[in-house]
Amino acid sequence: MIPYGRQEISEADVAAVVEVLRSDWLTQGPAVPRFEEAVASRCGAKHAVAVNSGTSALHIACMALDLGPGDWLWTSPITFVASANCALYCGASVDFVDIDPGTGNMSAEALEAKLAGAASRGKLPKIVVPVHFGGQPCDMKRIGELSSKYGFRVIEDASHAVGASYQGEPVGKCVHSDVAVFSFHPVKIMTTAEGGMALTNEPSIAERMARLRTHGITRDAAHMTRPPDGAWYYQQVELGYNYRMTDMQAALGGRQLERLDGFISSRERLADRYDDALRGLPIVTLKRGPDRRSSWHLYVIRVPERPGLPGRKKVFDKLRASGIGVNVHYIPVHLQPYYERFGFRPGDFPVAERFYAEAITLPLFQALSAADQDKVVRALAEAIQAAKA
Ligand SMILES: *Cc1c(COP(=O)(O)O)cnc(C)c1O
Repeated sequence: MIPYGRQEISEADVAAVVEVLRSDWLTQGPAVPRFEEAVASRCGAKHAVAVNSGTSALHIACMALDLGPGDWLWTSPITFVASANCALYCGASVDFVDIDPGTGNMSAEALEAKLAGAASRGKLPKIVVPVHFGGQPCDMKRIGELSSKYGFRVIEDASHAVGASYQGEPVGKCVHSDVAVFSFHPVKIMTTAEGGMALTNEPSIAERMARLRTHGITRDAAHMTRPPDGAWYYQQVELGYNYRMTDMQAALGGRQLERLDGFISSRERLADRYDDALRGLPIVTLKRGPDRRSSWHLYVIRVPERPGLPGRKKVFDKLRASGIGVNVHYIPVHLQPYYERFGFRPGDFPVAERFYAEAITLPLFQALSAADQDKVVRALAEAIQAAKA
């Protein structure tokens, strides 16, 4: 089976992890701040807080922006459930904004229209979470302008977009957002096994996130309610979690980061090759914005639901049967059974639902060979032919 994604671990990566294992610290040592520094510097962000997953990063970002009961967080329905769950962890409510069918990203027009309606009902969101679907950045400039106009905060779910750029600036620089969140899960662009990071330019948000990742504990006298009893002293000043990244993970991440540019170029080259090879087939590829560079976490195609065409499910099943590890991104979050309790129903976000009905994710990862990629394209052409018959 050709998988849809796969990590790339070098001998240098292995050596970096082994070095930590032989050192004095397995966690809470020097590797984590070094990795944070390296990611922040690469992205041009002032602060970076490393955590044990992208999901944890989303959670502490919401907490640091004071999301709580009575508040609303809006995100895209075409995402992993974590983009929405972070609001529920905080006792807040979730709503969704329909997508642009061309890119799979949250539609800035739909957001603007929904905000105008919400403003008239006094139900504006506190936080909007745009998700850079497949690695292609959302219309951040427009979303940033809307955030100024309507007074909401922006957390970029950049789990797919490590190494991507928007209008010449790296994703993670938070030019149009308060916080940007990365995931380092192995299927994403670069990996720490499990891991994530939250980037921001606001010192107070960074400080709060760093405290929330470690139980809400501070060792900084400036943040204590009274002078320290002694050098051993710390205070828990709020309820946090153990969301810490280990030094083993950070050492791996540091090495991966050095190869990030190469990872993105390989993925981009493969994506271009897919674009060329698929041109004659009755499928739709995603639109690319001229002012942004995707990190190509996913290569998604749509098999249009049209008379005379076989439909997504048949094509998907044929591909799997021919050993192609295709996948689907994503089942719209509002259609998850857990979300039904909040009153969401099929038809609520029709563009996203249609996108889901037609989407297939083709294998894309750095080490995918041209021969294997050609095999995917041939299998897709055959699947469409066979399914039509
Ligand atoms: C992977 C992913 C996450 C969660 O990241 P983890 O590191 O797996 O917790 C969040 N949002 C999106 C869009 C993702 O793809």
